Amino acid sequence: MMSVNSVYQIQTYSSNKTKGRKPAVDPNVLFNILKEKKDEIFSDGKLVPVSNNIWTDISNKLQNKISPNSIYISIYHDRNNWKSELKKILGLLNTSASENGSIDDDESSSSSESVESEYCSSRELFEFELAYDKYRSILPRPVDYRNKGKTRKYNILKPHAWSDVINDEFLLIYKLPCSFVYKRAKVCFEASQSSKFITFEGKCKEETCGAILSGWSKEKPKEGEPLKISILTKNTIGKETQHTKNDH
Ligand SMILES: [Zn+2]
Repeated sequence: MMSVNSVYQIQTYSSNKTKGRKPAVDPNVLFNILKEKKDEIFSDGKLVPVSNNIWTDISNKLQNKISPNSIYISIYHDRNNWKSELKKILGLLNTSASENGSIDDDESSSSSESVESEYCSSRELFEFELAYDKYRSILPRPVDYRNKGKTRKYNILKPHAWSDVINDEFLLIYKLPCSFVYKRAKVCFEASQSSKFITFEGKCKEETCGAILSGWSKEKPKEGEPLKISILTKNTIGKETQHTKNDH
């Protein structure tokens, strides 16, 4: 049986969809929040990545009317000159190499070029909850890791089981045709602004698709509560033909 709480919200975003659409939130309200959070939006003069919790925090402040991904993208592209304005307030504009060059120069010329192509290739945010009993079945547990005679403790999700449990729930709800292969998940018990409780990565094993998946869970759930999971990946619904159904 499926659990009763199958009311899931899909927050989707792709840059070409929103053209001409009326904003769901007063831009001034959003910009005021951005000004409030400006110190957390930039790190070393650069925009923090889309996976940073700050984007979720801002989205929450807007009653989730705009997805964290969309907020990130709009700043990234300096829509409404917000990024420029924020950098001006923070005194970051001087860090740009040239005065007359585009303000984006410092970011687009370096590593975030790949970020741009990745995030603008319509990765969407998928959110769902893992019921407590399922979460409990993959509960993080400490393991000893021995290296050169020293023993350290790590927290890991239940080996082999975790990716199946999360993947099954994800595909049950969103029905993407992808066959994701997951890498090791990281678990951090002291989750803070800069670190999430759980993060994991995956990739669709179909060569014709190859969609990259980034997943995370911001906070450790309280006893008896579900685990909230966010996954950022390409929306491949309708791309079934890129995926062979015969699993070996
Ligand atoms: Zn795929």
